[in-house]
Amino acid sequence: KVRVRFAPSPTGGLHLGGVRTVLFNYLFARQHKGDFVLRIEDTDQTRYVPGAEEYIMECLRWCGLNPDESPNVGGPYGPYRQSERKPLYRQYAEQLVASGHAYYAFDTPEELESMRERLKSAENPAPQYNHVVRAQMRNSLSMPDAEVQELLVKNTPHVIRIKMPVGEEVAFTDMVRGHVSFHAGMVDDKVLLKADGMPTYHLAVVVDDYLMKITHAFRGEEWLPSAPVHILLWIYLGWEAHMPQWAHLPLILKPDGNGKLSKRDGDRLGFPVYAMNWADPKTGELTKGFREIGFLPEAFINMLAVLGWNDGTEQEIFSLDELVEKFSMERVHKAGAKFDFEKAKWFNHQYLVKKDNDALAQLFLPVLQEKNIVADPAYVATVAGLVKERCHFINEIWDHGFFFFEEPQSYDVAAVKPKWTPEKAQFFTAWGAQLDALSAFTAVELEASFKALAAEKGIKMGELQLPFRIMLCGGKFGPPVFDIAATLGKAATQERIKKGLE
Ligand code: GLU
Repeated sequence: KVRVRFAPSPTGGLHLGGVRTVLFNYLFARQHKGDFVLRIEDTDQTRYVPGAEEYIMECLRWCGLNPDESPNVGGPYGPYRQSERKPLYRQYAEQLVASGHAYYAFDTPEELESMRERLKSAENPAPQYNHVVRAQMRNSLSMPDAEVQELLVKNTPHVIRIKMPVGEEVAFTDMVRGHVSFHAGMVDDKVLLKADGMPTYHLAVVVDDYLMKITHAFRGEEWLPSAPVHILLWIYLGWEAHMPQWAHLPLILKPDGNGKLSKRDGDRLGFPVYAMNWADPKTGELTKGFREIGFLPEAFINMLAVLGWNDGTEQEIFSLDELVEKFSMERVHKAGAKFDFEKAKWFNHQYLVKKDNDALAQLFLPVLQEKNIVADPAYVATVAGLVKERCHFINEIWDHGFFFFEEPQSYDVAAVKPKWTPEKAQFFTAWGAQLDALSAFTAVELEASFKALAAEKGIKMGELQLPFRIMLCGGKFGPPVFDIAATLGKAATQERIKKGLE
């Protein structure tokens, strides 16, 4: 049975790339009628950020990408938080030491620092603990057994490191990138178990993928350099036959293609990079999210799906069900995908206009509420229907339709003044009075009577419609003017005509 996992470290908000990883996992799981697991990788306590885990769960909920197993909903392979699995990992690290694939290292932070200082050079600016230096360090590979035993008995602080082989090639087939291979000797001897007994990410990710029976591991391309360590661990632990298939997902790039879209780019470039608002608990700094600027989750998901994937046709709009059916990892591009905010807005617009007006009203009512405006949902729905074509976001219903909820605060007098005549004023007074006699207050009826009276008075329709619009909205904007009047209703229309004539 297919089992995939999203395994975030709770270190902050979720950016676009993170949500896309969630999405691809989710789609793959649904497509194969498999399980989607959420595992919280919180073994690095120095990077732990309070609130990040709740944020991730809320984000998955908002996107509608709910896991089948998680710290919240539980499941047969729990606990799903690595910090709660701590006692589990040591035995595997010890097993690796016993089989000669890992070793105890007793080096103190000072000793590590002095090694780095000693070896630092122009060619080697960041010296690593690797097969070249391990013989000069204090570890179970460089010391007599008796000494190692003595240190262990005395509970001397130590870590366990993987012994990376020399002259070996580590190769695998990535579902996106195809054949990938590394020289194992180029990789440093990563710590697997820390002095406090906590596993590092490298050990925990392999142990948990195994114990949780993960069949496919999809993650961001930034993890590709770690893949040889993980693959060797699968082999050394004797689990090679169970190793998941890997897919390293391409990066999301800045709009100009110049490097990875980073968390800091959002503010700089004027669009969010986080799924939802994220307030850094340390600095209090707020990073804006797609949810809060008005993205619909369906649009957000669709936009992310086609960032680096297509179904081989020109189609761009896909429902979640369609994505489940059509998604394939093999069609994910190897190259990074440039993020285009204007395109993202286009997606939101597509979903916004497809929504029925009542649904839009429900989404817009809170925006009105914030402005202390009470409005009838049916009325709001009519307004939404009239202006949605012009909107990318829900809150833009206000920008394009505020005059449905309050009288114009100012009038574009300059637009009518030069051509204004007493005859026109008379027209509006007369027409305003005629409205009482209309059989129905509809746009069609309104336009017909407006036209008839204009003809009678010998004034061109065009000369009258603009002033009418300005009376109703205050400026040269808005949907068709008789629709506005019909929506506002008789009393408000008459009122605004009267006010406009003052
Ligand atoms: N904990 C890693 C992260 O924060 C997960 C990487 C993986 O999926 O293996 O992205």
